[in-house]
Amino acid sequence: MPDPSHDSSPSKFHFCPDCKKPLRLKQGKMGPFWGCTGYPDCRTTVNDLDGKPSPEPDAQYRCPVCTRRLVRSDRGDGDYWFCSGYSKGCKVTLADNGGIPETAYHCHQCGQLLVKRTGKNGAFWGCSGYPDCRASHRDKDNRPQY
Ligand SMILES: [Zn+2]
Ligand SMILES: [Zn+2]
Ligand SMILES: [Zn+2]
Repeated sequence: MPDPSHDSSPSKFHFCPDCKKPLRLKQGKMGPFWGCTGYPDCRTTVNDLDGKPSPEPDAQYRCPVCTRRLVRSDRGDGDYWFCSGYSKGCKVTLADNGGIPETAYHCHQCGQLLVKRTGKNGAFWGCSGYPDCRASHRDKDNRPQY
C-alpha cells in the first residue's frame, strides 16, 4: 500500500543542469525561480515556468553581464527583459525576441554590451559604454561583425 503523503514520483524532482543535485523552488523578489540545493557551491538558478523549471536552456535567460536571471517585464510597455540584479546596479535590459531575451553581444574592447543602433549608413553596433568606449561594429545578419 503506497503512502500517499510520501509522493516520490520522479516527475516532481528537477535536477540542476550543472551539478545534477535537486533544484528547489524559491520565492525571489522578482518571482519564483529554481535554485540548486548545492548552493553555495553551485549557484545555478533556473527560471520557473508554470511551477516547473523552464526546459529552455537557462543561459538564454541569464544576464550577459552579471549572469543573474533576466526577468521579463510585465509592465505592459512593450516586451523586454531586465536583469534581476537591477537593484544591485546592473542595468542590463534586452529586447524580447519571441519570448526569449534577444542575444547579447559584448564589446571586445571593454566587455560591456553592444547595442544595435541605426546610423546614417545603416545599422551598426555601438558599445553601451559610449562615450567612454567608442567601439562600434558593422552589422551583418543582425550580429556585430568583429
Ligand atoms: Zn547545481
Ligand atoms: Zn546583470
Ligand atoms: Zn566597449
